[in-house]
Amino acid sequence: MNCQEAQTQLSEYLESSLDALRMKSIETHLLGCPVCRAEADGLADCIQEIARLPIVDPRSNRVLGRGYSRRSDSPCRCKLAPLS
Ligand SMILES: [Zn+2]
Repeated sequence: MNCQEAQTQLSEYLESSLDALRMKSIETHLLGCPVCRAEADGLADCIQEIARLPIVDPRSNRVLGRGYSRRSDSPCRCKLAPLS
């Protein structure tokens, strides 16, 4: 597995939605590849951040929900830089 293969499947890997064989091969790749491991870490942050997103009422465009604050030290790149 090369980096591109690993990175295209990172989000599925983090959601554990790959089959066992692919999970294992990505896991193995991450162990030996600091670049992809950093990518996986960043993506995991993004996934957590998205899970914490407040519900927005589309009619008023107001943010519902409380306690949401964006961590400025970890800018989420999910939408800005989709994995290719
Ligand atoms: Zn890699």
